[in-house]
Amino acid sequence: MTQAQITQALRSYGSVHLQAVMFDMDGVLYDSMKNHASCWHQAMQHFKFTQFSKEEAYMHEGRTGAGTINIVSQRERGHDATPEEIAEIYAYKAELFNKCDPAPPMPGAYELLQKVKASGITPMIVTGSGQKSLLGRLNTHFPDIFRPELMVTAFDVKKGKPNPEPYLMGMQKFAHYQSCELSPSHFIVVENAPLGVQAAVAAGVFTIAVNTGPLPDEALLSQGANLLFPSMQSLCDHWELLFSCLSH
Ligand code: MG
Repeated sequence: MTQAQITQALRSYGSVHLQAVMFDMDGVLYDSMKNHASCWHQAMQHFKFTQFSKEEAYMHEGRTGAGTINIVSQRERGHDATPEEIAEIYAYKAELFNKCDPAPPMPGAYELLQKVKASGITPMIVTGSGQKSLLGRLNTHFPDIFRPELMVTAFDVKKGKPNPEPYLMGMQKFAHYQSCELSPSHFIVVENAPLGVQAAVAAGVFTIAVNTGPLPDEALLSQGANLLFPSMQSLCDHWELLFSCLSH
């Protein structure tokens, strides 16, 4: 990634007056997508949905569990799943997930969060995850980084990605907390999933994709990502350059 590429991406977006970075969690701050994809695959097989591959799980990342289950049910059976089926499949997937080893922090994530904070920019989390142990884990792996008031989780949102709701809510929380004007230009988003990129772009925010999974770069770029890095470590290594471009 060069200065010219960053400058061009910024120019085609408009202007950014950066105050906060909204980070997605799974596949961005934690290397957790392998577990999610494998558990979704196993759960779908268990309930006789045979066409659902692990790779497909990456395409649905960010969607609500019910949303994913209904898409698969429509495709393989021609109708939606009942609320009872959705609850059963989702509970089974969650049970498998809870048996997995806890996902490690993504390499480069904590270093980047520290750099962002040291630049005077507020790091935030916007996730569709509703794991109860989330806050404790975040404080363990990323101490002194996040303020609970500035987190958006599954408990805050109804629609989930690709709807822009989670990112709009993140912007609202920040504007309320800082008593400042609400504008997408105060933010950037860091996302690893096609639907997450779609949600952030729909919220009007400059969106950085990090391709930490098996999908082709085009899956993220075609959703409107403004920049793409191959890993969180690479984004971390480019933070100074990115921040200096953003500040001019
Ligand atoms: Mg993600």
